[in-house]
Amino acid sequence: MADLTESQIAEFRDELERQLAKLQESMTVSDKALETVALDQGAVGRLSRMDSLQSQALAKGLRERESARLGLIQEALRRLDSGTYGVCIVCGGAVAAERLFVFPESGTCARCGD
Ligand SMILES: [Zn+2]
Repeated sequence: MADLTESQIAEFRDELERQLAKLQESMTVSDKALETVALDQGAVGRLSRMDSLQSQALAKGLRERESARLGLIQEALRRLDSGTYGVCIVCGGAVAAERLFVFPESGTCARCGD
């Protein structure tokens, strides 16, 4: 069972929704970055090609981290809706509120996570 008060849950929901909005905004930006890099692929010269390959790799890496985080936040919001937020998805124990304050998207307790 989760060990959270109603007001803590409301706070975590606010925080997660804020982070979700921020993340979606920055993903729009990295979308544009990926497009720009794709256009650069036509650039002439060896150096600029290497440059654009490098920035494409960076943009892709960022994009992957962002979408992994997006998934975690969406999962956490789903758990909030279904009333299982704060319950460890591995062992079913309570996730400490202190952990959720640092990682509100966390689905595991300190013992099962990280
Ligand atoms: Zn656990």
